[in-house]
Amino acid sequence: MLNSFGEGTTMGQHVAAYYQVLQELATEAVSGDTLRDTLATMAKKTASAMKSSGCSVLLFDAASRRLLHAVSHGLSDWYLRKGFLDADKSLGDTLEGKVVTVLDAATDPRVQYREMAQRQGIASMVSVPLRQRGSIIGALRVYTREHRHFSTDDIAFLTAVAGLAAVAVENAQLRELEAARDAMFSQPDVPRLAQDLIRPISFSHPSEEEFARLLDFYKIQWMYEPRSFPLEWDGDKVKEMFTPDFYLPELDLYVELTTMKQELIREKTRKLRRLKELYPEVNIKLLTKRDYHRLLAKYGYGPLGRAEVNVERILLSAPQIQRRVRQLGKAISGDYAGRSPLLIGILKGVVCFMPDLMRNISLPVSVDFMAISYYGDQETESVRIIKDLDRSIAGLDVIMVEDIVDTGMTLNYVLHYLAARNPASLEVCTLLDKRVRRLVDVPLKYIGFEVPDEFVVGYGLDYNGEFRNLPFIGIVTPSPTEAK
Ligand code: 5GP
Repeated sequence: MLNSFGEGTTMGQHVAAYYQVLQELATEAVSGDTLRDTLATMAKKTASAMKSSGCSVLLFDAASRRLLHAVSHGLSDWYLRKGFLDADKSLGDTLEGKVVTVLDAATDPRVQYREMAQRQGIASMVSVPLRQRGSIIGALRVYTREHRHFSTDDIAFLTAVAGLAAVAVENAQLRELEAARDAMFSQPDVPRLAQDLIRPISFSHPSEEEFARLLDFYKIQWMYEPRSFPLEWDGDKVKEMFTPDFYLPELDLYVELTTMKQELIREKTRKLRRLKELYPEVNIKLLTKRDYHRLLAKYGYGPLGRAEVNVERILLSAPQIQRRVRQLGKAISGDYAGRSPLLIGILKGVVCFMPDLMRNISLPVSVDFMAISYYGDQETESVRIIKDLDRSIAGLDVIMVEDIVDTGMTLNYVLHYLAARNPASLEVCTLLDKRVRRLVDVPLKYIGFEVPDEFVVGYGLDYNGEFRNLPFIGIVTPSPTEAK
């Protein structure tokens, strides 16, 4: 068994080497490189400074409670694709903010894939949390071939590297936000998840790249070849493996793309059949190009309108909207603590937003709806209430829930109408704010997203009665001229 210094190295030399590497990594953390390149350099230099056999940076995906290998050095491909790392089962204390050291990976129950670790030749490992402003966003791990007791210097060094890795993540997120703002795109509410900033360097087939682009277009999260499934064994040796091309975490679906070559399809079909026998819980689809367009349509990502106009680009993805609605619900719950607000929605644009919002408010709320019709010519544009409230709002805390505020005229009219009925308070919560088109200044207390001057549909918003059922918000083209 070795101590952490290896043979023939004095403590002074060792610590000096750590300082040297830290200095290099500090420069790396704020370089303009892609996040993947920066973290890859960190993993490589850390592994070498520690005289270890491997190092990886894992990112925590809160939605699935999994750890994802962002980058790694010195670990084989099959080891990386051995299966998903359950954040609670794989050295789970790291997520509690603790440093976890493992002397014998083959027997320690805190290691999720002990047998695989043994095959990879990993004897010991250490896992240090990656922190970003109080939250744990991942882990830095170092693996050694020999059994090793990690010293306090080792841990101090790794903690510093983990801090620099977290800085690199934040730096990449900020760069993205800045780029989005510069592009005058709707301002993203939250930085993109670190794992979305990491992309594979190369695809093994152009069709995979095209599929990835399509998923990006629809803002569907994807992972490229994250897992290999053993299919045949010879004794305890794996004889055949299958690695599906993609995993779509939001749909919990693996996707394998095929070309049209018949013999390849046959071979893949055989493997898939075997995979389904061995792993019945796994949801996987074999897709041709035509199929995948159909699949996306099935999940609500497709041309659902009658082709008079088309969704040209997705502005806000379904998960993005859901995240923001949760935040709005939380803010309202905090601001109205101890009270029971009445939510008033104007039909029909709030048909998606209102139910999602109210389910995220942890207070007793009641709801009511109004309907409005627009009439008059261009100059005397006016609104008329065609469905009024069911009961009096006098003395109530009212929150007007709107899908989108454009010129502000509708809301201005409705707010005056409601204010005259003496509510205790009156505030507005709108999902979208098309601020650049504002003619009448209306006070908006809660805003989901600011959107550009484009006609948007989906998530309750329609064009000629269509598109309301899209789970995302998109921009239609050609821009409808009669759009308000
Ligand atoms: P405002 O009175 O603020 O100009 O318009 C508000 C109403 O116009 C919204 O409630 C919505 O029904 C409609 N509207 C404004 N902009 C859009 C848009 O981009 N897409 C859709 N579908 N409706 C819009």
